[in-house]
Amino acid sequence: MDARGVDSFESMSNIPKEERARLARSFSLELPRVVERTEPASDGSRKYLFVLDDGNRIEAVFMPMGERTSICLSSQAGCAVGCTFCVTGFFGAGRNLRPSEMIGQFHTVRREHAIPMELLNVVFMGMGEPLLNFENVATTLEILETQIAPKRITISTSGIIPGIEELAKLERRPNLAVSINAPDRKRREEIMPITRKYPLADLIDCLRRFPLEKGREMTIEYVLLAGYNDAPSDGAALARLIRGLHAKVNVIPFNEDPNLPPWMKRPTEEAIDDFVESLVDHGAKVTVRRSKGREIAAACGQLRGRGESIRRRDSSGHAASGNSRSGV
Ligand code: SF4
Repeated sequence: MDARGVDSFESMSNIPKEERARLARSFSLELPRVVERTEPASDGSRKYLFVLDDGNRIEAVFMPMGERTSICLSSQAGCAVGCTFCVTGFFGAGRNLRPSEMIGQFHTVRREHAIPMELLNVVFMGMGEPLLNFENVATTLEILETQIAPKRITISTSGIIPGIEELAKLERRPNLAVSINAPDRKRREEIMPITRKYPLADLIDCLRRFPLEKGREMTIEYVLLAGYNDAPSDGAALARLIRGLHAKVNVIPFNEDPNLPPWMKRPTEEAIDDFVESLVDHGAKVTVRRSKGREIAAACGQLRGRGESIRRRDSSGHAASGNSRSGV
């Protein structure tokens, strides 16, 4: 599919006929195949499970948000980062997606909902760590940016410092979202082992250096786990940690998943409110992702994870459990 949504070389009337035939012999415009679509949730969000030509399964999410719509894309068919709250991480590393496979997710979801380009946001927040597939993601950004402004595109990372530094060098930079999830190094190491490689303090220093265009801010993502990182004192500590960053905190109450350790629970609405209030009282700007995707297993890897755990159950007699991970 080309940038205008044309799905055959034959339809590209701006290209000479012989050239179209030559392109059709050498290249394919096929989109990845959708094998499952969830029913739309009450907020209209919908999740797509795709199968790639080598059998890998990846997910994308359609998320209407008022006048605008966001499409969440996967950048890898798995993830080696191993966040302990993430289903994708639980199922382990997968290969990097090619630009055509990322653009293919985007166009499939966009076409089904007939959304005009000017009303779209794109977030790389699905399966995989986009900054560990930097080259392909950068090419995908270049293609998307022919039709969508960089300020409408967000890269979400677990905090890969060299990748953030590469992103900072791009001439047309997307927005940056960074998954922090704990206000101190010890707890962040427990749930995000990548912290051992890229310590929290170094990451925050790196974010302080990240160049932001006028009027833009970065997002600090914080998955809220009941009784673990959701105390008002944690909110205060997080606000202190990020003080001075031009950032807003996106609080994401945890999406429970049968593949995940049973102790990982979604906080009560009251605990979420208290945490948010503490952040605000300590000067942070906050948004809360309260319901989007809860009914459709929208945390990354959860839809694929359902199928995988059923397969595991079938072959081993019990569901995967224990050291499992859930998604952001
Ligand atoms: S949360 Fe993101 S970076 Fe962490 S394991 Fe899951 S997909 Fe990978």
